[in-house]
Amino acid sequence: MTQTTPNHTQTVAGWAAHDSSGKITPFIFKRRENGENDVTIKILYCGMCHTDLHYIRNDWGITMYPVVPGHEITGVITEVGEKVKGFKMGDRVGVGCLAASCLECELCTDSQENYCSNLQFTYNGIFWDGSITYGGYSQILVADHRYVVHVPDNLPMDAAAPLLCAGITVFSPMKEHNLLQSPGKKLGVVGLGGLGHVAVKFGKAFGLHVTVISTSPSKETEAKLRLGADAFLVSTDPIQMQSGARTLDFIINTVAGKHSLGPILELLKVKGTMVLVGAPDKPLDLPSFPLIFGKRVVKGSIIGGMKDTQEMMDLCGKHNITCDVEVIKPDYIDQALSRLDKNDVRYRFVIDIAGKLSSNL
Ligand code: NAP
Ligand code: ZN
Repeated sequence: MTQTTPNHTQTVAGWAAHDSSGKITPFIFKRRENGENDVTIKILYCGMCHTDLHYIRNDWGITMYPVVPGHEITGVITEVGEKVKGFKMGDRVGVGCLAASCLECELCTDSQENYCSNLQFTYNGIFWDGSITYGGYSQILVADHRYVVHVPDNLPMDAAAPLLCAGITVFSPMKEHNLLQSPGKKLGVVGLGGLGHVAVKFGKAFGLHVTVISTSPSKETEAKLRLGADAFLVSTDPIQMQSGARTLDFIINTVAGKHSLGPILELLKVKGTMVLVGAPDKPLDLPSFPLIFGKRVVKGSIIGGMKDTQEMMDLCGKHNITCDVEVIKPDYIDQALSRLDKNDVRYRFVIDIAGKLSSNL
């Protein structure tokens, strides 16, 4: 079913899930004409976030099919609306999870659009004109320029794409807790996947001591040698976990599946904080003892505001931080999703959208 919203006249080729089977197939749909506040972007690359998998399989029960996933988008501007400020044709840009917000509330005016109660996402959202948003697994995107950022010239567009979601999601809580200016502080990163590996890179760029907490012993060597992690704990090994008790100031938990928070909380010092960014579909076990005996805090965080997103992109440009990616062609999306589900990616699949397209498009 394609949309019939007026002004949705641009025919776009993309890839969509039509049901919860997990399969993605080519999909032709309509996007709006470029409005006065919009830029049109020729999509070059799109990262594959675990959130895409959650939506594709309807893990959270909120998917509106057909869903065109993708919110780690890099590309080049091909059209600019009259009221657009700060962007021109040919600019290298990125779009993350945000497609719209009210732009007027206290949160929007304080650059925290990501917490606006009228927030709409890049896909599976409902745009201002009532249309369902379609994401970056597609050739062209029309985006309101207030949710677009510049990609620094020195960053490759494929390895920069995951910064638009994975990057900002871990950067935002680190910034909020002053970890950018606290060298020597001890950061724990739970789950070494798309989000986790960027958190390790940020931690090292900001001079933190970084401990990875992982279910995969096979990731230890690369975590230390390639990503620069200082320590590695296997979360299923109680002796290793006990050896790390009360050592960490701050933990970012990126785990996508159900797991127990108790042993991880024990790794925090007294008054330490764990920020949950992972979004398992089932409630997590939160025992009270590690909280009350350690005065510890557990909180959540979702992506980041647009100002922080641009700041993060600029910092990545300055420190040359990119993601470790496996670039794939669109006809490999299904296999990539199944490998992502099996924790078999180092550390992000990125779709080469503008490269050779699948033969049936
Ligand atoms: P990912 O690449 O699949 O990485 C998740 C990692 O968590 C895995 O590599 C694995 O690391 C660990 N893990 C997965 N399932 C586990 C389980 N059942 N028990 C213990 N560990 C497990 O996923 P991602 O793209 O980084 O996304 C992670 C989560 O964050 C997803 O739920 C996603 O929806 C969510 N997310 C949230 C936001 C936000 O704004 N809050 C933004 C983006 C994504 P090890 O092998 O090291 O154990
Ligand atoms: Zn994401």
